[in-house]
Amino acid sequence: MTTYFAPSTLEEAVAYLQANQTIKIIAGGTDLLVAHYQELDTLPGLMDIGNIAELKTIATGEEVEIGALVTHEDIARHPWLQQHVPFLSQGAAQVGGPQIRNRGTIGGNLVHASPAADGAPPLIVLGAVVELTGSAPVQVPLEEFFIGPGKTVLAPDQILTKVKFSKPAANQGGAFLKLGKRKAMAIATASVAVLVTVDNNCLTDLRICLGSVGPVPLRARKTEDVLRGQKVDLLDLAAAEKKLQEEISPIDDIRGSAEYRRQAAGALLRRALQQAINNVGVTQND
Ligand SMILES: Cc1cc2nc3c(=O)[nH]c(=O)nc-3n(C[C@H](O)[C@H](O)[C@H](O)COP(=O)(O)OP(=O)(O)OC[C@H]3O[C@@H](n4cnc5c(N)ncnc54)[C@H](O)[C@@H]3O)c2cc1C
Repeated sequence: MTTYFAPSTLEEAVAYLQANQTIKIIAGGTDLLVAHYQELDTLPGLMDIGNIAELKTIATGEEVEIGALVTHEDIARHPWLQQHVPFLSQGAAQVGGPQIRNRGTIGGNLVHASPAADGAPPLIVLGAVVELTGSAPVQVPLEEFFIGPGKTVLAPDQILTKVKFSKPAANQGGAFLKLGKRKAMAIATASVAVLVTVDNNCLTDLRICLGSVGPVPLRARKTEDVLRGQKVDLLDLAAAEKKLQEEISPIDDIRGSAEYRRQAAGALLRRALQQAINNVGVTQND
């Protein structure tokens, strides 16, 4: 019989995890229960972190902090996030269906480390860092958190406690686009998030991150290099798309062929760039 422990504070949870490093953490359970449904009785133990109130908060301002237990629905419906980081809320609104969005947490989404996780690309282009708490809290850039499908740098004695990023500036705009087989309950066949910085009609900086086209959410740095410094109304999109094709490494699977994903990623990039440029400044109106 599996042991079950449900701490109500982070301190308790960390102490329990330090003493029981083989147990599984469960948050919303939407990934974990699917993965272990047939073997729940034989798991070494479960620690349910769902009662830890301090992991459920969203702090807003120049620095934004989202607790690991914040659900996709919380992010989708949060008025401040909708206004200041709309592409993050829009991405959260596309996760699964209402039941999944109300149970599934941002922490679980990141730790499960699916290359298709919808939470990752928008947060990576925002330059987010994750806080991992074990014997002491450490911060890791989200981009470096993922090391393979289902694999992260999280140690067995660590809990992901929050994700942090800076509010986009007035000269920045973002977009997140997801292509799935349906409009709901669809894991991404390909997705792309873009955050652009525009000064005097020039794309002075940008970040691009794609989902489902490689083993981890993929920051397309070489494609960014192609586009950086160009006039926003004269972007060389053909050159950018060519570079993108060199950077991504999609596979054939049930959701689409590698070739289809290549085409889709290019088209999504073009659209996301345009949307992000159109969105510059619109997030700042109070
Ligand atoms: C029908 C269906 C549709 C879905 N659709 C989508 C979709 O469209 N887009 C998408 O991105 N995902 C989708 N998912 C996947 C899933 O719902 C999300 O990844 C969700 O955010 C996972 O969060 P959770 O709280 O349920 O994680 P859990 O299942 O509780 O945990 C997932 C993993 O993370 C670990 N974990 C959880 N929280 C922490 C923490 N704070 N610290 C350390 N480890 C932790 C657990 O041990 C486990 O290994 C779908 C799932 C289902 C079943």
